[in-house]
Amino acid sequence: MLAPFSILLMFALILFPAQNDAYKVKRENMVKQQIQGRGVKNIMVLNAMRSVKRHLFVPSDQVPYAYDDRPLPIGYGQTISQPYMVAYMTSVIKPHPNMRVLEIGTGSGYQAAVLADIAKEVFTIEIVPEHGKMAAEKLKNLGYSNVKVKIGDGYQGWEEHAPYDAIVVTAGAEVVPPPLLAQLKEGGKMVIPVGSPYMTQTLKLIEKRKGKIITKNLMPVLFVPFTRESQR
Ligand code: SAH
Repeated sequence: MLAPFSILLMFALILFPAQNDAYKVKRENMVKQQIQGRGVKNIMVLNAMRSVKRHLFVPSDQVPYAYDDRPLPIGYGQTISQPYMVAYMTSVIKPHPNMRVLEIGTGSGYQAAVLADIAKEVFTIEIVPEHGKMAAEKLKNLGYSNVKVKIGDGYQGWEEHAPYDAIVVTAGAEVVPPPLLAQLKEGGKMVIPVGSPYMTQTLKLIEKRKGKIITKNLMPVLFVPFTRESQR
């Protein structure tokens, strides 16, 4: 007779690949319907969205909804952005494998993982220590060795590793933080939601060309507020 442990192991071996395949199918559908379907074409972005396991970045009670077309709660009043938004923001910075990217608002670590799948190095800052610690641990365990997480106020950027080819801000800021503009490389791109807290914000693409700042409004969005150290 098989020991109970062996039976459990057999079940796990049969169920795990099936479960993984189910998530793979869900990711493929997510990419086709939500992302390609809305016009994101960049092949590196589509592949990153196919490969990063979003269900591993959400709390266990949210796993069944991980590939749904919406943001999800991740605790402490924060959210993991809608998959389309992650893909769109990644595509507008025109990512490439030599890039060094700064992200503000690590949250679950998912956007950082998508960026890390394409770029050379990702630096990400989170103001809620619990999120920062959890995301750093998760990214490390999943083998994203090109991501560095810092806990602090992203308003100041991360001077030590500046300048950056691109900056991705995933919290709604009232103004574009001047330190972030200063840490953007010549020719670099920043994508940032700007507006009043809890109101619709405007997603902006900011480019630094020959020292000039060129701003383009992309679309209305709703992100959790960009908080400051003094407000916490
Ligand atoms: N990119 C995240 C989305 C997180 S939501 C993901 O893929 O899951 C926005 C995050 O920005 C929240 O975790 C919030 O705590 C963080 N945040 C808000 N203001 C911040 C600031 N000033 N500096 C750094 N992080 C900030």
